[in-house]
Amino acid sequence: MARLWLTSDSPEISSNAGKTLIRLSRRHRIKVPTEIRMRVCRSCKKILDSNNSKTRIRLKGIVVSCMDCGRTHRYHGGV
Ligand SMILES: [Zn+2]
Repeated sequence: MARLWLTSDSPEISSNAGKTLIRLSRRHRIKVPTEIRMRVCRSCKKILDSNNSKTRIRLKGIVVSCMDCGRTHRYHGGV
């Protein structure tokens, strides 16, 4: 099911999928796997893919920028 959301081209589906993912994980206190958590914007709650985000590798780690809201997410160390 998660793979279906992550490969969707529709912005409405990716937005709803991100919101649902975060809401369910908080309600049921389930930890979202790291590879999926890294692909959800924490600000606008959209699924990040190559169309609406850019990923750069810097000295201090991986920087993922959301192109819709402008928020940057930094992942470093053990990710
Ligand atoms: Zn965003």
